[in-house]
Amino acid sequence: MKFYLLILSVLLLVGCQTTENNSVEETQANVETETIVEESNAVQDTILETGSKEIRPDGVPVAWTDYSAYANPNEEGYAYEIHPDSDISSEILPITESSSDVVLFTFDDAPQTPGSHAIEMAELMKSKDVNAIFLVNGMYLESEENIQIVKTIHDMGFEIGNHTETHENLRELTYEEQYYQLKTTNDKILEITGEPVRWFRPPFGLYNSETVSICNELGLQLMTWSFGYDWMDEYLEAEPLAQVSLDNKYLRGGANILMHDRSWTYGALEKMIDGYREMGYHIVDPYLIKHQRNVEY
Ligand SMILES: [Zn+2]
Repeated sequence: MKFYLLILSVLLLVGCQTTENNSVEETQANVETETIVEESNAVQDTILETGSKEIRPDGVPVAWTDYSAYANPNEEGYAYEIHPDSDISSEILPITESSSDVVLFTFDDAPQTPGSHAIEMAELMKSKDVNAIFLVNGMYLESEENIQIVKTIHDMGFEIGNHTETHENLRELTYEEQYYQLKTTNDKILEITGEPVRWFRPPFGLYNSETVSICNELGLQLMTWSFGYDWMDEYLEAEPLAQVSLDNKYLRGGANILMHDRSWTYGALEKMIDGYREMGYHIVDPYLIKHQRNVEY
């Protein structure tokens, strides 16, 4: 597996160096890249089938979806980043010139049992080669049932993020209370998945400078979102939710889309995936997104 990735990196490097002014070499580089991409897909298929994860030197698993159509990862294996300035709504931006615009799927407050559809959603997404981030609350990780849901989702290849312990408005908490909210959930996730947590989303999108410094101390990248509708009264049904998710003024390349593990969201999910793809968007595998330090203020 490492051998293929090494070859891929070398050829991509060669491709970059030859594309400037020699069309013959450029064509060759493209042909070589295509050949290798096929091999690389075979590697991805193996990962999909076995559920095993290849780990990069920084401890983060490689992406498992078929990203060859939309992203050429850099030498570290990353193709996108979340701009560290939260004022731009945590949009997902390409870091390599050859990568196209994407949207990111995220699911907060999971698993809320009874009524959680987190596993069905994960299975549906996996069958359609879509990866996503599930951001969990520590308070839902007390029961064995919920712990198993998170473990199952993680074992399927999805990334687990931190959404605090008890879903408070962090602006109303002291530094120590905020630290508890983030650290306790981080520890619980690490114990279940064995994988360091990379992403944090503050409940209600509300945070302050202390949240940012705690995130940096714990190695979490803070993200808000671009849009989400599945908690609003008029969108608690699959059809209207799918419609508004595919047609709203906040949808554009880089959109960070917030959802929950509710039945109507599960009902809308396949339409959303197909709809975004028909519109030309790729749904980004979070393991292609480089983790960065948050800007303190
Ligand atoms: Zn929430």
